[in-house]
Amino acid sequence: MTTNGFGGVFANGSGVNLNLGAAAQQDDAPEQNAPAEGEQTVHDVIIVGSGPAGYTAAIYTARASLKPVLFASSVSPGGDLMTTTEVENFPGFVEGIQGPELMTTIGAQAERFGADIRYEDVESVELEGDTKKVILTDGSVHLAKTVILSTGSEYRKLGVEGEQRLSGHGVSWCATCDGFFFKEKALAVVGGGDSALEESLYLTNHASKVYLIHRRDSLRGSEIMQQRVFEHPKIEVIWNSQVKTINGDAKVTSVTLTDTVSGGESELDVEGVFVAIGSDPRTDLVKDKLELTEAGTIAVEGRSSRTSIPGVFAAGDVIDSTYRQAITAAGSGCVAALDAQHYLETL
Ligand code: NAP
Repeated sequence: MTTNGFGGVFANGSGVNLNLGAAAQQDDAPEQNAPAEGEQTVHDVIIVGSGPAGYTAAIYTARASLKPVLFASSVSPGGDLMTTTEVENFPGFVEGIQGPELMTTIGAQAERFGADIRYEDVESVELEGDTKKVILTDGSVHLAKTVILSTGSEYRKLGVEGEQRLSGHGVSWCATCDGFFFKEKALAVVGGGDSALEESLYLTNHASKVYLIHRRDSLRGSEIMQQRVFEHPKIEVIWNSQVKTINGDAKVTSVTLTDTVSGGESELDVEGVFVAIGSDPRTDLVKDKLELTEAGTIAVEGRSSRTSIPGVFAAGDVIDSTYRQAITAAGSGCVAALDAQHYLETL
């Protein structure tokens, strides 16, 4: 078998690098605000989103000389892994790697091949037709023949009284960002998946006590993480409990819990609440423009990344409500890059 310019294997075994056409060699003329179409660079690929999916799509499209432009967000470039600690299950790192280090490394790898990563925010997209428009919050319009959407997911909210009001005053969605502020305090973590287990374990570095509040009597997270939580002397699991309200005037002082079996209520004194109940696909940019699945993810055709509009591809957590791992997102970014490349060949 022979390898192609992607470092992968050609289905036809030809071993010949694909000719990407004149588009790949066009001048990268400077873009202007509110430009007239025709005077402006039409990129081969614009990638929106910068988690493992977006960065991997950038590596592959850059190696194929498609000069991808990736809008990485000014607020949270790198995606969710920038707020995690140790990543132990990404292949290639025997001792694990810190989430932020993993993401900056993948981003740097994409830049090494010429990917243009820009820390700017996308306001809207216009996806119909041969030339897609990506409009930034500063009003500038960027044109492309293909768009890869890898906008990831956003943290779910509990939707209870006190959550929004005390956000930033004891309520948080990110232990690595805010754990430091809770030295020797009692904290609650809500959820039963890997995120909640990971947050609980991390918070033991700062807190005097961590209550893990879960609505059922068994956890959803992986066995190895459950074991670590059960064995940790600072963590106490409170089973069959839902947070009813988060209490406090200027800052969190307690949570009111409802027992999901008996219906009884109790109050637990804590100074911080970390909500880790999963996340939802981030589809705000496209929810009225692309077909979505019942789970709210962008619908794609079979195992491909092709969305309901030709030339628009999607990858990572925004299409995946099942696996949602860094490595599956990265694989999905690779698929989107290959699909975009094949689409460009047909133009
Ligand atoms: P998740 O697996 O969907 O778990 C969400 C948890 O929150 C569940 O236990 C769920 O309860 C609970 N929950 C949902 N809505 C709730 C509500 N309104 N009130 C109270 N509890 C609620 O989400 P996740 O933990 O963020 O993990 C997402 C994916 O990322 C998973 O595939 C996970 O394996 C992966 N991940 C991996 C790692 C790692 O490998 N290091 C770290 C973090 C995440 P029920 O169980 O009752 O549904």
